[in-house]
Amino acid sequence: MGLRPNLLTRRAAGVASTTLALLLSTAAVGVVPAASAFSAAPGGACVEPTDSHTNARVKPGAAAKHEPNELTAKQVRERDADLAAALRERATFRTGAGATALATVTIPVVVHVIQRDSTRAGGNIPDSLITAQINVLNQAYAGATGGAATAFDFRLDKINRVTNPSWYPIVDGSSAERSMKSSLRVGGKNTLNIYLGELSDDLLGWATFPQRKLNSMDGVVVLSESLPGGTATNYNQGDTGTHEVGHWLNLYHTFQGGCSGSGDSVSDTPAEASPAYECPTGRNTCSTAGLDPITNFMDYSYDSCMYQFTPGQASRMLTAWNAYRAA
Ligand SMILES: [Zn+2]
Repeated sequence: MGLRPNLLTRRAAGVASTTLALLLSTAAVGVVPAASAFSAAPGGACVEPTDSHTNARVKPGAAAKHEPNELTAKQVRERDADLAAALRERATFRTGAGATALATVTIPVVVHVIQRDSTRAGGNIPDSLITAQINVLNQAYAGATGGAATAFDFRLDKINRVTNPSWYPIVDGSSAERSMKSSLRVGGKNTLNIYLGELSDDLLGWATFPQRKLNSMDGVVVLSESLPGGTATNYNQGDTGTHEVGHWLNLYHTFQGGCSGSGDSVSDTPAEASPAYECPTGRNTCSTAGLDPITNFMDYSYDSCMYQFTPGQASRMLTAWNAYRAA
């Protein structure tokens, strides 16, 4: 157990780069999970939401000083209260705003490839990796890899290549990130803007949660070499993109809140005390029912280990779509 059912199919998309990945990436990824490195409470809990990148995905042993992806219990309460308020507000403006399991949503996607120069090391990844990423998103969100089908599919509208050394690498929370997004972001609240490049602090990616008022920071940042066929060993099948888009659609980590309380605000994801790294089959960190959801896209395990969303997560995403991102 643990390997995604269609692993071979998905790996096939990256065959051309596999050898390169093996040669280049050995030293790029920490080998020892260092959960303690991420256990500190996030700093700046009162940071204005538009500045908050509290939804990153990290490699084990990453250099990030704190885990920028976990929310405090207070932040979770505030976000969930805001979701309820947003749903109430929308219901007063129109009928049928509530989520329905039958609704389908096609999300327009604009991909911004941030480059330092024209070399692969400088961020110039081929279009084929990007189209493979869109395919991975579509498989994951359709339930084709083994999880619940969600309401969402993804349509690549544009690839926007930008050479700007001052935006490379993309530094989480920096003024350069703000400048980059302010300059590049396009579309309405329903448009998924993905920014690809080298990232600060060994991060694999980060994302913004949906908000009632669109702001220019809205979007998903992903390590370009985490795309299918990229060089990020163990994280190069595109599931960082899947994970970050999950945040963009209002999902928390499966380990949010640890063993107590409402956890990730989804009832069918068993509680988990801390992030799972690699693929620890049989891990069980909470006394509550169920093994840790290490195969869930919203954990931190290897791409080869994670392959599913739950029905509860699918429902939460659709509810949030209707509250925040629907036209
Ligand atoms: Zn995350």
